[in-house]
Amino acid sequence: LVSRKWRVKPTVLDLGDGVTIGEGTLALCAGPCSIESEAQMEKVMNHLLENGVRLMRGGVFKPRSSPYSFRGLGMDGLRLFHSMARERGIKIVTEVMQVSQVEEMHDFVDVFQVGARNTQNFNLLDALGGVDKPVMIKRGISGTIEELLSSAEYVFSGGNEKLILCERGIRTFETASRNTLDLNAVPILKEKSHLPVIVDPSHGIGIREYVPAMALAGVLAGADGIVYETHETPETAASDGQQTLNFDESAKLVRNLRRVFALR
Ligand code: PEP
Ligand code: MN
Repeated sequence: LVSRKWRVKPTVLDLGDGVTIGEGTLALCAGPCSIESEAQMEKVMNHLLENGVRLMRGGVFKPRSSPYSFRGLGMDGLRLFHSMARERGIKIVTEVMQVSQVEEMHDFVDVFQVGARNTQNFNLLDALGGVDKPVMIKRGISGTIEELLSSAEYVFSGGNEKLILCERGIRTFETASRNTLDLNAVPILKEKSHLPVIVDPSHGIGIREYVPAMALAGVLAGADGIVYETHETPETAASDGQQTLNFDESAKLVRNLRRVFALR
């Protein structure tokens, strides 16, 4: 069902208030790795609005390699995120980690994110097949393109056709970067599937200085959008500061992304 053989026309998702994801537009989504506080969100939201970015990412349930790392503000954080975003016309993209969270998060999110560690959590995918909200599925840590498409098939066949595929880098033998951003996946996914494809250069390379170049490369490779991490002071971010852009870097990237998209 997610194949171009079944549906030739590219899927375009309409999130309301003039925000769309898919063919013909460049979807830009930015925000901190983790939602930390009201003050932090206020600063990020102002930055996004100043730069015309209408989609904000930010985790309230964080999958962390160590149980001692910051694991997110949970539902309290999400309720605050939601009320602040609503007031400003910003749409929320945030990660759901388990089946029991789908219902409680439902009314507070615009796009459910399935993280790389959960790409093959088939119970979660089944649960998301039953909701009427878009789902962005990240490629698994060591997942193939075909496995990402199969995960999307779970949600789609469950009845939810509002899907976005996200290339966020895979684990390879290379240790010079956090992950290996597989830009090959972009044209291949676009050819195989009618679903929108978004690139996450932050997790893809994991090194702040190189994020802008990889984001621009993602657009040239044919991505329908970019999702990246930004924070007022990346050095103090509760998670992923090493790959997070400050607001100056983020503003410059947005300008360049639009210029590069216009060249396509
Ligand atoms: C994130 O978006 O902050 C995240 C944890 O991503 P991934 O699942 O791709 O590691
Ligand atoms: Mn992160």
